[in-house]
Amino acid sequence: MKIEEIELKHISIPLKKPFKTALRTVETAENTVVLIHTDDGQTGYGEAPPTKVITGDTNESTIAAIRSSIRPALLGKDIANLEEIQDALQTATDRDFSAKAAVDMAVYDLASKRLGVPLYQYLGGYGNQVETDLTISINEPEEMEADAVAAAEQGFSALKLKVGIDSEKDVRRVACIRRAVGDKMKIRLDANQGWEVDEAIRTITRLEDLGLDIELVEQPVKARDFEGLKRVKDNVNTVIMADESLFSPRDALDLLQMQAADLLNIKLMKCGGIYNALKIAAIAETYGVECMLGSMVESKISLTAAAHLAAAKKIITRVDLDAAILLAEDPVMGGFEKEIPWFTLTEAPGLGITGVRGLTEIE
Ligand SMILES: [Mg+2]
Repeated sequence: MKIEEIELKHISIPLKKPFKTALRTVETAENTVVLIHTDDGQTGYGEAPPTKVITGDTNESTIAAIRSSIRPALLGKDIANLEEIQDALQTATDRDFSAKAAVDMAVYDLASKRLGVPLYQYLGGYGNQVETDLTISINEPEEMEADAVAAAEQGFSALKLKVGIDSEKDVRRVACIRRAVGDKMKIRLDANQGWEVDEAIRTITRLEDLGLDIELVEQPVKARDFEGLKRVKDNVNTVIMADESLFSPRDALDLLQMQAADLLNIKLMKCGGIYNALKIAAIAETYGVECMLGSMVESKISLTAAAHLAAAKKIITRVDLDAAILLAEDPVMGGFEKEIPWFTLTEAPGLGITGVRGLTEIE
C-alpha cells in the first residue's frame, strides 16, 4: 500500500450560529481536505481548518506546505512503515501543524484500513464511544443563558462557556447560566487567554465564593506565560487546564514538570496529528494528569479522527468535539455515529469515512 498521490480539496460548511470566543468569530467552516490515494486503490481522509489566531495556519499556508514540502517527502512511501512516514512528515516543514495533522490522520486512516481494523482499535482500543460537551459562544449573558438551556434540553451533561472578554460580566454570565441549568450540569469555562494573571485569580476565586461549581477553567492567561498559568493554578481551588499553552510533546513536559496545569487539552491541529498526540497522552499519563481531546471548527472528517483517538486512550477522559453539532450541515458519509451527547465509532476499517459531499477544487 504505497502513497500514489496527495490530493487537496476545499470544503465550506455554514455554522448554525456564529462561533464566538475571546479571540475570534467564525460563521462558516472553510477548511482544506486531504485525500491520500494509494497504489491499491484506497483513500485516506484528513482535514485542516485555518485557525490563524491559534495555530498560525491559513488555508493558503496549509496548501502550500502540503504541495511544496509534505507531498514530495511522502510520495511512494509504504503505509506499512508508519515511523518512516512520520519522520518524513513531521520534519518536512517547521510549523504548519494543521497541514501535518490533516496528512497524519489520512495516513492513520490508511494504516488501520490496511489491517482491516477501526482506527480506535489500531490506537489501543480502550473504548469505542466518547461523550462531548457543547460550547456556548461568548455573547450577552441572556443570550448565553438561552443557549445553555437549549443545550440542556438537547441532552448535554457538560457545557463549555466561552468567557475572557470582561471578567465582571463573565461572573454574571456564569451565575446566570448556573441558575438556569441547575446543579447537575457540568460547567467548564474557557477564557482563551483573555484574563491577566491577577484578574484570573480574582475572577476564579469570586466564582468559587459564589458556589458556582466550575469543573475546570481552560487557558485563563496568555499561551506562552507558563509561570502565570502556574500562579493561577497555585492560587485557586478550581482545576486549571492548559490549551493554547500546549502544542508539542515538549510543551507537555515543560508544563507538567513545572506543575503549571492540572489538565491538558490536546488538539490534533496544534500538535501536528495523532502521532504527537499519542506522545502527549503518554507524557500526561506518566504524570497522572488527565487529558481533554478538543477541536477547532472542523467537519466530521477530522472530528472522527479525534474521536477515534479519544476513545482509544484511557487517559483522555474529556471530549470537546462539538463542532459536529455547531455546523448546520454534515456532508461526511460514514465516520462516527452521533446520538447527543455521544459519538460512537463503527467497526468499519480506518476512520470509516466512505465519502464527502460538496468538495470543491482548489486552484
Ligand atoms: Mg480552549
